[in-house]
Amino acid sequence: MKNPSSLDELIAALRCLPGVGPKSAQRMAYHLLQRDPGGARRLAGALGLALERVRHCEKCNSFAEEPVCGLCRSPRRDPALLCVVETPADVMMMEQTQSYGGLYFVLMGVLSPLDGVGPREIGLDRLGKRAADGVVKEVILATNFTVEGEATAHYIGELVRAHGIKVTRIARGLPVGGELEHVDTGTLAQAVLERREV
Ligand SMILES: [Zn+2]
Repeated sequence: MKNPSSLDELIAALRCLPGVGPKSAQRMAYHLLQRDPGGARRLAGALGLALERVRHCEKCNSFAEEPVCGLCRSPRRDPALLCVVETPADVMMMEQTQSYGGLYFVLMGVLSPLDGVGPREIGLDRLGKRAADGVVKEVILATNFTVEGEATAHYIGELVRAHGIKVTRIARGLPVGGELEHVDTGTLAQAVLERREV
């Protein structure tokens, strides 16, 4: 028995999700159509709306619905501190530590030349301009302690230092190969406090 073509298209589309192969895409499609059409409608609506509305903040590059996000607009944040992280999830983690009062720049990835991700793809031209705006006094590198994260931190460190700005790296209270997202907030708060100049 052959699937109707719109079902085949749904299965093919679901495969754009990370870690989803043909079998699980098929299971998801059957589940959505047979067991949870309400959930499927909600998913379709939410995805459409997010695609339409969500963009990148002009300042921090994180997801936002306005040109500049609420965190970047907040008068309570210290604009002299700029923390560089890989993902919006890392910003949430940092915020949960309640130990950091500066601003952020979100790379939305890491340098990975083999995958075609160079300095441009992670917005380093914009980060360079931001660091040179005369307001930023310290750039805190909070990329993950993975090979790519370390290489990216090193690259950004060189870039920012060229503008005569202090560069620090969060301390290694984090496990080697560790990702910020999976660390408890106490450890992360300590790593920020114990950051060192690089
Ligand atoms: Zn922002």
